[in-house]
Amino acid sequence: MAIQDSGTHTVVGEASLQELEEAIRGELIRPGHPAYDEARAVWNGAIDKRPAAIVRCAGVADVRHAVEFARSQDLLVAVRGGKHSLPGFSTCDGGIVIDLSGMKGMRVDPAARTAQAEAGLTWSEFDHEAQAFGLATTGGLISTTGIAGFTLGGGIGWLMRACGLTCDSLLSADLVTADGELVHASKSENPELFWGLRGGGGNFGVVTSFEYQLHQVGPVLMAGPVFYSGDRAPEILRFYREFTAGLPNEATTMLNLATAPPAPFLPEEIHGKPVAVLLGVYAGPVAEGERVLAPLRELGDPVADLMGPIPYVAMQGLLDALYPSGVSNYFKAGYLNEISDQAIDVLVEQYGAMSSPMSEIHVQHFGGAISEVADEDTAFANRGAEFVLNVIGRTPDAAGFEDQVNWARGCYSAMEPHTSGGTYTNFMSEGDDRLKEAYGQAKYDRLVALKDHYDPTNLFRLNQNVTPSAAA
Ligand SMILES: Cc1cc2nc3c(=O)[nH]c(=O)nc-3n(C[C@H](O)[C@H](O)[C@H](O)COP(=O)(O)OP(=O)(O)OC[C@H]3O[C@@H](n4cnc5c(N)ncnc54)[C@H](O)[C@@H]3O)c2cc1C
Repeated sequence: MAIQDSGTHTVVGEASLQELEEAIRGELIRPGHPAYDEARAVWNGAIDKRPAAIVRCAGVADVRHAVEFARSQDLLVAVRGGKHSLPGFSTCDGGIVIDLSGMKGMRVDPAARTAQAEAGLTWSEFDHEAQAFGLATTGGLISTTGIAGFTLGGGIGWLMRACGLTCDSLLSADLVTADGELVHASKSENPELFWGLRGGGGNFGVVTSFEYQLHQVGPVLMAGPVFYSGDRAPEILRFYREFTAGLPNEATTMLNLATAPPAPFLPEEIHGKPVAVLLGVYAGPVAEGERVLAPLRELGDPVADLMGPIPYVAMQGLLDALYPSGVSNYFKAGYLNEISDQAIDVLVEQYGAMSSPMSEIHVQHFGGAISEVADEDTAFANRGAEFVLNVIGRTPDAAGFEDQVNWARGCYSAMEPHTSGGTYTNFMSEGDDRLKEAYGQAKYDRLVALKDHYDPTNLFRLNQNVTPSAAA
């Protein structure tokens, strides 16, 4: 029996798959296996693909076997940690999925404030271990997200203005390159590769483990959301513009133009109605946070004020229920240097045109510690931007999803004249031509040189792909 690989021209032989199965300590899941449908599912419900095999790796040796197998069979390769890729890069039709989600080892060194973390961890698992010692590093707004794809793309979250991007706290990484070798990258060992891993995504190999600098955080912080009626969006946007100017680095905040979910913490009469939500986290003493974040709560007549002292891990998981897996999702993002009056007019108009109660417009305050890292230090670009704009089109399933994608694209296009250029690769729902814009030409060229060195045949191409010279 042979399995057709629709992603490339190859056919995977039964015998060779059996050899792979025997070679690994983890599990090989193929069509027909009782766990196949669960194993092939990814977080974004808009993605539905059927790989020829999913290799659930138990360790580095399995990753090496899987990479060597994929290369020898000329197979399309998807690499997976937390499965949250928006364009669905962590799965494929017909090829092989190298799934590290079972690799969840983590060792915290409380004295050195560092952590060695395997690539299959999610942020909730990572935080659980690190917070046992009152430590953390910048993780996602949704704690089910995987640390791997997240860190490699940059990593923005509630600690970003205090501690920098996630990749700014990366000290080293182990990765299996396209030739099956295990390579260590840090500031002193393979420094150029280390530069590329901090923002360049999964282009250079399969990272098996990350070493992070941790920071003292919490365990209790002043944090949470404050909900206002959505018809006050113009006023709230203007307030947010003023409020964010001159905020200390400890404060990371965002504004979310959304629809009130039918959640028990919101009054029933507001369910399904537009809400402008101000969210904040103060990574410092609670009393200080209360003072700094107070203006977010003092605009009068909040629909609900859920801000208060809260364990950091609870804040990390606070929004999880609103972002379940299986929902159809599309993100379109960029940066803003300012929230001008004209931009506010556009945002308010587009917010009014949002027709799915699950869709949202996020404006996240950037800067702080992110802007204190020299731009040339990492592949991640656009550190000087003031805000991240993320337009999110979502529906519970496929019904109406296309409309929300069109809305998100239209909203972003209308905002484009007010953006400052560039985009964040982890928020790109398409492997599109904005990649060079995301990095800028000079960084892109540097990434191509790295790709030429570590993956000249583009084995790892299911990512925001930096095309090697030979394949260009
Ligand atoms: C609900 C949701 C919330 C999000 N919130 C945030 C947020 O707050 N901040 C933010 O910065 N981003 C956020 N993102 C975007 C997120 O950073 C990316 O989706 C990221 O790729 C997720 O990583 P993952 O490991 O879960 O994804 P996966 O789908 O497992 O992997 C995504 C890609 O990363 C690469 N990759 C994964 N693992 C490895 C590995 N071990 N070695 C090499 N390459 C690898 C591969 O190219 C893979 O296709 C969010 C996404 C979602 C869906």
